[in-house]
Amino acid sequence: MLQVAPLITELQSLGLRLPRAGLRRQGGAGPAEGGTLLAAGRAFNVPTASPFVTDSPFSLDDSGGELWVRRGGTRLLQVDLPPRPRFYHERDQQGTPLRQLALLHGADCLATTVLQTCVYWPEPTRCRFCGIELSLRGGQTTDRKTPEQLARAALRAHELDGVRHVVLTTGATREGREELRLLADCARAIKRSAGLPVHAQFCPPREPGAMAALQDSGIDAVGIHIESMDPAALKWVAPAKAAMGLKRFQAAWQEAVEVFGPGQVESFLIAGLGESPESLITGADMLAELGVYPFVVPLRPIPGSLLQADRPPSPEVMDRIYRGVARVLQRRGLHSSQCAAGCVRCGACGALWAYELEPAEMVCHRARTSGELARALAIRHQVFVREQGIVKRTDQDQEDRRSIHLVAEHQGEIVGTVRVFQTREGRNQWVGGRLAVAREHRSSGAGQLLVRYAMLTVKREGCTRFLATVQQKNVPFFQYIGWRKEGEPFDLHDWPHQLMVADLDRVE
Ligand code: SF4
Repeated sequence: MLQVAPLITELQSLGLRLPRAGLRRQGGAGPAEGGTLLAAGRAFNVPTASPFVTDSPFSLDDSGGELWVRRGGTRLLQVDLPPRPRFYHERDQQGTPLRQLALLHGADCLATTVLQTCVYWPEPTRCRFCGIELSLRGGQTTDRKTPEQLARAALRAHELDGVRHVVLTTGATREGREELRLLADCARAIKRSAGLPVHAQFCPPREPGAMAALQDSGIDAVGIHIESMDPAALKWVAPAKAAMGLKRFQAAWQEAVEVFGPGQVESFLIAGLGESPESLITGADMLAELGVYPFVVPLRPIPGSLLQADRPPSPEVMDRIYRGVARVLQRRGLHSSQCAAGCVRCGACGALWAYELEPAEMVCHRARTSGELARALAIRHQVFVREQGIVKRTDQDQEDRRSIHLVAEHQGEIVGTVRVFQTREGRNQWVGGRLAVAREHRSSGAGQLLVRYAMLTVKREGCTRFLATVQQKNVPFFQYIGWRKEGEPFDLHDWPHQLMVADLDRVE
């Protein structure tokens, strides 16, 4: 965690009073209002125009040739402003100013809304935080950007201003296919002209199978934003997304992680919509388990949006949330630096990047892609078929289909696995098994981590009785981490085994 993290959080919650206009960006989709500051080698966006900003204890002091964030009479942090982008002075082939087509976000991100209209904009389906069509009213942008226009904007922003990645967002259309096609066409054109990493944001598609085509077009990372994992908050703030249902989001996230990889898929989680910090952190963990980066931002009431009179959550609440989510990211092995493009790479709308911790050396999570599952099954095969010869050709059986497969990951490599599944006898009874760790990692603690994680996983699924049949030689290991014997030892595949039960109170 960086030293400046709490101050950035305070600024984003309370706002910054400006000595003069000129820092602001208004309208657009997502958390758009505000001005960008540079400090600690990063960019962050702070509210400057919302009504609550007038009460902020923070002001920008530009006297004496330096810029300082000041509280009362005390200078707290020296900052810079990003230089005014030079590509803003250029035009496309038809004479449209490039500034009307795309904007510099953060320090080095080019962002554009390819379709500036949204089928959900008419109330009551409009997302309450959104300002997507506001910028059309002011003539700040055009309703639909063409691939050729964005190819030109990306090239010039890259050449003149050192832009290094691109965010494409969009309003929704009735069927959803049109915006996916437009995103793909724009990504293809940008790749051809500027060769930059591209991130695209869209609603979860109705049908599976869309992600491969997006990847083929050159898109490197995607955002499928649920905004809130709290069903009541989501229904209130984004009724159209609530109506899509969590299952549709989960299917889209899983497909996206399979195609783009863990950490290349994000979902915004907006804090301050009525959820508790704990439920937000739990929701973030659910996303992280799937390989989706939970991009937490404080609510940013955009002037003109339905939430314009609201305030962001307090700095204390945001600090608690960021610390909790940073631990989640560490446990799941996710870090913003892994992300090729997009809001996670830019980070400016939140402060999570400043709270992030180094990913743990060894992390556990569910197998998130077919590649991770294949590696887990290969480790099992090596241990149970090749090394121990417990079974002859394969250790895979019918229980694998209904199992949750958990893996241990060491510096990006899958090194161990265990599976858990619900028994047919009782809804609250689960069984763990096929614990296997690659030979070179057997003294790394991966086995213990996997068993504890299996206990936690089944407990969260509602399990009250967790059983495992373990080889006799492993009984002391299981006893050490809170398991007890049940019944007498018996032979299985000609090897002595013992049925054991976990003490689930030992994991939180
Ligand atoms: S985090 Fe996303 S929306 Fe916010 S400034 Fe960066 S690119 Fe733009």
